[in-house]
Amino acid sequence: MTQVAEPQTAGHSTPGSPPGESVHHWIGGRSVEGASERRGPVYDPATGVLSREVDFASAEDVDAAVRAAREAFPGWRATSLSKRTEILFRIRNLVDQHRRDLAAILTAEHGKVTSDALGEVARGVENLEFATGVPNLLKGGYSEQVSTGVDVYQLRQPLGVVAGITPFNFPAMVPMWMFANAIACGNTFVLKPSEKDPSASIYIAELLREAGLPDGVFNVVHGDKVAVDRILEHPDVRAVSFVGSTPIARYIYETGTRNGKRVQALGGAKNHMVVLPDADIDMAADAAVSAAYGSAGERCMAISVVVAVGDVGDPLVEAIKQRLPKIQIGPGSDSGAEMGPLVTREHRDKVASYLEKGAEQGATVVADGRDHALFKESDGFFLGVSLLDNVTPEMDSYRNEIFGPVLEVVRVETYDEAVRLVNDNPYGNGTAIFTRDGGAARQFQFEAEAGMVGINVPIPVPVAYYSFGGWKSSLFGDLHMYGPEGIQFYTRAKVVTSRWPDPGTSQVDLGFPRTR
Ligand code: NAD
Repeated sequence: MTQVAEPQTAGHSTPGSPPGESVHHWIGGRSVEGASERRGPVYDPATGVLSREVDFASAEDVDAAVRAAREAFPGWRATSLSKRTEILFRIRNLVDQHRRDLAAILTAEHGKVTSDALGEVARGVENLEFATGVPNLLKGGYSEQVSTGVDVYQLRQPLGVVAGITPFNFPAMVPMWMFANAIACGNTFVLKPSEKDPSASIYIAELLREAGLPDGVFNVVHGDKVAVDRILEHPDVRAVSFVGSTPIARYIYETGTRNGKRVQALGGAKNHMVVLPDADIDMAADAAVSAAYGSAGERCMAISVVVAVGDVGDPLVEAIKQRLPKIQIGPGSDSGAEMGPLVTREHRDKVASYLEKGAEQGATVVADGRDHALFKESDGFFLGVSLLDNVTPEMDSYRNEIFGPVLEVVRVETYDEAVRLVNDNPYGNGTAIFTRDGGAARQFQFEAEAGMVGINVPIPVPVAYYSFGGWKSSLFGDLHMYGPEGIQFYTRAKVVTSRWPDPGTSQVDLGFPRTR
């Protein structure tokens, strides 16, 4: 049985590997250089400077991580619930204590501003807190005397080695969505984080070791499709959680399930915010601006489309426009900055290309982020806030997930048209309605085809004791992520029917067992 280590007193290294050094894998409780020669670049998005490289795992590197996880599994699953809970509390406290260091790593590699990075860590910590309740969450049911002298009860048991594949936009929170519940339930975990901002995962791995998590329970392999494909085909990986873009989510789901794995794959989004004529315009404008441009629009729950119903269009666009010049854009580490750069130059240029196309296809460019001084003069991957009005569903900017600081306004005449837009969209992650009319809000909640709905709340990300997931092309699989559905995903049920020797009830009976 695995010995649970006492918490380490020796500290982990300073946040992130020093500039110029490579980011390595984390296998069996220690940093491991990749066997493959392949590496990828990691940039500081605020300066455009190549700050370090990250090892890209070969199939053999993935095999080593899965082996470490498989070897750690029997001991970890046999570790008592109270001991596992104690470690989870320590993990929770350590991540919370080091939230500023972790946030600094997020800012350095993702580019998000400090307040946003701290928010990411806080929403991740919620999942660690939820996981500390695992003794309660794993309670089964018990039925006494289902037949004379016979009892039935249900257990939930871990799956074994499970893997998580995560996107660039939440390098700390999304891994916590996954591994917190996975390890709490007794599984061992292999994380393949985004290669664009890999250091947060290693920092978290160090904190987990410091908290006393046994070696091999949490492993990290970096890389690209080579690493992902090996995870998807490895016979010892029982389940895969994925968060990222829709084409890759579909690929992960189809390949993983074909190989007999349990898979939950969360994809992209195009979140609509419907504003009815009776809405509070200032509240709606504040919400639209915050939800569209926060984290430079690189959130799967960002609002990317405002659907202005009836005569609300003109005053709403005016109210949004007035707010735009006040948004402070700058390096994420600047205390005054509210919006940082995008993650890479390629991504920034792709986002900007939708402004060009939008204008060509007849949208009104109310604000063009390419006019911002940092877009023109900085080597960082900046783009100013952009607003496209009079967008129609045929336009490229509407049909694609832009994933940047571009807000689009579609104008419609009626509530019914607005709902049709939401429901006809292939994505169904989140949606919101802004209104003072409780009946309209209730109707919207009833008929909107999306997994998460906000009523006068633009970013309705569920708290950790609910579960997160979209509908349609925003999720492949049956179970949403984290919360109660996360516990279900990372466990399987076993039902036991038991009888103890009792001469009074023993007899030969060749009939089919009946309860009456
Ligand atoms: P991505 O799909 O490019 O990458 C996600 C992960 O898949 C990364 O680890 C990456 O290395 C891997 N990957 C990329 N290409 C691959 C390939 N061809 N084969 C196998 N693996 C591959 O996504 P991203 O750009 O990192 O993140 C942004 C996307 O994630 C957006 O579409 C956003 O909406 C989505 N997202 C969704 C949610 C959600 O909860 N639904 C949350 C966050 C982000």
